[in-house]
Amino acid sequence: MVKELDVIAVREDFPILKREVNGKPLVYLDNGATAQKPKAVIDALTRYYSNENSNIHRGVHTLSQEATSAYEVAREKMKAFINAPEKETVIFTKGTTDGINLIAFSLGREFIQEGDEIVISAMEHHSNIVPWQMLCEQKKAVLKIAPINERGEIIIEEYQKLLNSKTKLVSIVHISNTLGTINPIKEMIKMAHEVGAKFIVDAAQSAPHMKLDVQDLNCDFLVFSMHKVFGPTGIGVLYGKKELLEAIPPYQGGGDMIKTVSFEKTTYNELPHKFEAGTPNISAGIAVSAALDYIEGLDWEAMHEHEAELLAYGTAQLKSIEGLRIIGEAKEKTSVISFIIDGVHPYDVGVIVDKMGIAVRTGHHCTQPLMDWYKIPGTIRASFAFYNTKEEVDLLVTAVKRAVQMLK
Ligand code: PMP
Repeated sequence: MVKELDVIAVREDFPILKREVNGKPLVYLDNGATAQKPKAVIDALTRYYSNENSNIHRGVHTLSQEATSAYEVAREKMKAFINAPEKETVIFTKGTTDGINLIAFSLGREFIQEGDEIVISAMEHHSNIVPWQMLCEQKKAVLKIAPINERGEIIIEEYQKLLNSKTKLVSIVHISNTLGTINPIKEMIKMAHEVGAKFIVDAAQSAPHMKLDVQDLNCDFLVFSMHKVFGPTGIGVLYGKKELLEAIPPYQGGGDMIKTVSFEKTTYNELPHKFEAGTPNISAGIAVSAALDYIEGLDWEAMHEHEAELLAYGTAQLKSIEGLRIIGEAKEKTSVISFIIDGVHPYDVGVIVDKMGIAVRTGHHCTQPLMDWYKIPGTIRASFAFYNTKEEVDLLVTAVKRAVQMLK
């Protein structure tokens, strides 16, 4: 028996959950876009600016030493969180988008040639489409798209058919932000490796919901953003296999990423600094520690159970609304419910439920090609975190029913 998550208690840790929106208690169901922050994270940011503020890696004075050490502790904690083999394989970035662009630029510049193939899927976020399009255009490489079925699952046989000796890179979302589909990433990585391709995991939506183990997955790269993992904005992670990170050139040039600079020749710093040019987001980096301590302190099994319950309950309740269709009904799915309603525009529903204090996302969720595939302009998306409750799902369902009455 899994221990039940004490939702009332965890909600106390998130100050924002106490606020009202339009005179109603906030019901925050937009966790897929960004998650709320526990007080421990907010306090870590304040503590840094009130007590330690200084630049890192370069100063001999006490403040700089303290800040550097706190920043590097965060890297150690991140290494443990994703089970990276070495601390140097954890690069701090601005976020998922930054991580993918780094790989596209650095690996792309060095290793992609004319005629090479890059495989993505039909459910990718724009940040896992556009950098590859830009690279393909520059290098005259070819972008291939693994198709999906009506339930919103990648058709694995079709994916496998796309892989061949020309495939150099595969970049696939672990969990779709629009559909909630959990892709069989480990199996897909194995298939890509069989043809010698490198595999990038977009873990933006899986990092908050699943224990990631980069060694078990055997991925070549993995990226995510901390703001979706109850941490601050402006910081993310790029994990890469050490030999690959060593083999590819730096992304940006500047301070901290160099060993020596002269006008004739510059030598680059070691990992991870080679990929961290300029002053990083120090406060956010330090607050990563607080975010990881917080979520590592939760019972993940109980959290999964709770989120799965919200998903099942919410899906059943929403389906009872006439004319409502769920977009994304994969067998393996996380706590995201995207839906459309006959004759009603998603945007209008979003605006009306906001008046009742409920935050949902409407639109294409940065997955326009996926919307085109379903032949819809967008969806209404409720995405749950462990601090959401069944009562909040009920409020959503009532609000959506009210919106439909008003709009039809
Ligand atoms: N990939 C996926 C699956 C996402 O959900 C997101 C954020 N919505 C991103 C990439 C981009 O993340 P960020 O904007 O934090 O860089």
